[in-house]
Amino acid sequence: MKVARVLTEVAMDRALDYEVPESLCAAIQLGHRVKVPLGRRLTVGYVVAFPEVAQVNMLKPIQDLVDKEPLIQPRLIELAQWMAEYYVCSLETALKTLLPEAVRNIEISYRELFEVRLLKSILNEDFEQLKQRAKKQAHVLESLAKVEGALLVAKAEKELGASWAMLRSLEKKGWVTLTRVRQERDPFSSEDFLVSQDLVLNEEQAQVFEQLKKFLNEKNPKPFLIHGVTGSGKTELYLQAMRVCLEQGRGAIMLVPEIALTPQSVERLKSRFAAEDGTEVAVLHSHLSSGERHDEWHRIREGRARVVIGARSAVFAPVKNLGMIVVDEEHEGSYKQQEAPRYHARDVAIMRGRLEGALVVLGSATPAVETYYHAQTKKYELAELKKRVDEQAMPTMHVVDMRQEVARGKGIPVLSNRLYEAIYSRLEKKEQVILFLNRRGFSSSLICVACGYVAMCPNCSVALTFHRAQGKVRCHWCDHTEEPPHVCPQCHDPRIRYAGLGTERVEEVILSAFPQAVVQRMDSDTMRRKGAHQRVLGDFKRGKIDILVGTQMIAKGLHFPNVTLVGIVYADLALHLPDFRASERVFQLLTQVAGRAGRGNVKGDVVVQSFTPFVPAIQFSKHYDFQGFYEQELEFRREFHYPPFCRCTLLTVRSRSEERASFFATYLEKELRALALPKTTVSQAAPAPMAKIQGWYRYQILIRTMQPLIMGKMLKNFLSELTFPEEIMVIVDVDAVQLL
Ligand code: ADP
Ligand code: ZN
Repeated sequence: MKVARVLTEVAMDRALDYEVPESLCAAIQLGHRVKVPLGRRLTVGYVVAFPEVAQVNMLKPIQDLVDKEPLIQPRLIELAQWMAEYYVCSLETALKTLLPEAVRNIEISYRELFEVRLLKSILNEDFEQLKQRAKKQAHVLESLAKVEGALLVAKAEKELGASWAMLRSLEKKGWVTLTRVRQERDPFSSEDFLVSQDLVLNEEQAQVFEQLKKFLNEKNPKPFLIHGVTGSGKTELYLQAMRVCLEQGRGAIMLVPEIALTPQSVERLKSRFAAEDGTEVAVLHSHLSSGERHDEWHRIREGRARVVIGARSAVFAPVKNLGMIVVDEEHEGSYKQQEAPRYHARDVAIMRGRLEGALVVLGSATPAVETYYHAQTKKYELAELKKRVDEQAMPTMHVVDMRQEVARGKGIPVLSNRLYEAIYSRLEKKEQVILFLNRRGFSSSLICVACGYVAMCPNCSVALTFHRAQGKVRCHWCDHTEEPPHVCPQCHDPRIRYAGLGTERVEEVILSAFPQAVVQRMDSDTMRRKGAHQRVLGDFKRGKIDILVGTQMIAKGLHFPNVTLVGIVYADLALHLPDFRASERVFQLLTQVAGRAGRGNVKGDVVVQSFTPFVPAIQFSKHYDFQGFYEQELEFRREFHYPPFCRCTLLTVRSRSEERASFFATYLEKELRALALPKTTVSQAAPAPMAKIQGWYRYQILIRTMQPLIMGKMLKNFLSELTFPEEIMVIVDVDAVQLL
């Protein structure tokens, strides 16, 4: 007997087994929609596996197939199966990610509208009579006669003053027909796109393009890494390679970090492909309404859109006959989902490429150490673009040793002399400045100089940040807010001080140092309102703002030709986090932020202020020496046994009670050791660096393995047999990128 495992919307957490009747055995495939009995009624579900052994003995039979073809491509179901194993989650969880709610939910469908169309000529007696009796109706018919084809009823109502009742009555009299039409919600319908042509590639690009073409002709191509500085023409290459892919009759997906999925980046794609016959571009991002998502998904699945651009989850887009997946800025942390299934879109892309024989192109100016290692060891193909397209030199980076600034003056200055003077000279020349600091708020903590008390969040193990605009201290993890104390709550000394700095304080210092300048702060505090982001960037582009102060928000992907100076106020912030990727992140961030300076005709400058100016991340980024950074970082990873020399899976045990979290984590650690996982080491259970978040105590165990799939399988079995004590949660994060 053939068994099919079926996922229904009604019982989303558990797929159920059904018997496949003889008559359907030949036709049924993974991904087929089927009608199945559930309780006393029939429901619709998806075939997600054909298990050898059924979960129960008595199986009900599948009633019928809903469609001829599977609604979800079988390859995508295989991808979900792989995810469930690799990321140690249930198949149901993996499938939920793959198949958006908007598609599973049968309530969501196409929007339907009515069209009105004139049925017969109005050059006759009848019409003349109508004209006498019903002037308005006649007027509508006359206008319809001038329209070629049909008119949307909504338009007829608005433009001709026709009412629904009137149109119905005209229909009854046989003058017009009203027909139902499917209307797709196009999130970009209101915009026009200018057609853009392929650019003539420069020599470097042309070489890489030839390689890409060769790879696109291979059956099972290796992943392809393009390592090239910002502005070296990577995106142009993606676009041209995508065209080759389309010409082969295949489709393509381009992933970009959510923060880079801007109207400009979408337009760049649309203007290249939208104008061509049938190659429509679909956009998938988190702000789509359910209806829009539904329409886009089906447009892609039916092959009416062959190019897809989107953030993380677009890696699951049901593109027909997939030929290529681009992962731009592949090193970006936002490709990792922070809830189950905790997948990494770049790695899922690589797996999907392997399953479908599609070429996966990774691009970055600062590839992840793991990715570059795979390229060096020939697991991936490596291509390098060394020059900017406009041949412009990278900005010069100056590193200021803040320890000397402290020694010179009193207290810790926000601006070194060097940065102050650099800003001053830009303002004189009417050039623009970006100041970057990776922390919002006014000060990072509230400290008592007498007893050392630090104001902490009651729910999280972090210091509270002072926000001057509200006059409150706030936790950046749980948003807990309170009044700042005027005297130390511990020793009652009035000398309680704000220490450390945030963007709010930088803004204030800048305003008082340069009263003539227009300063705008850009962080999640000032950008709460919808559209604020676009407005500020627009103002900045038009030169209405001289100095932009901000967090990560301004670090990425923005092009402002008139910005000739970037100041990094405090480069060490992320450096001292207890995470083996801390140094890599600082290197990436500095390189990226520096890329914002000098994109016009003037060479840019970058001033980096740091208390540890000689650490490798800063020194190598100063010389744009990715290779140098990579080599020393690789040695560090090798010595301390971190990826790429193993895979890291992080187990986090959470509980409201610290004692229970600790006890259970220790128990788990012992049991895991007893499993004797192959080529795997299990660390000691220990409090997480963020020992408490939102009132949850957290303990961690780090598993390092050379056998991720086998380890994952064993871990999954082990966890499924375990009964968790009440109020204990265990989170499994495979290839964790957040170790806090
Ligand atoms: P990257 O993705 O590496 O940052 P882009 O592809 O966005 O680089 O290219 C940077 C700029 O150079 C863009 O404005 C792009 O239009 C332009 N550009 C890219 N390739 C060429 C080319 N071959 N000739 C002229 N301009 C180019
Ligand atoms: Zn908190």
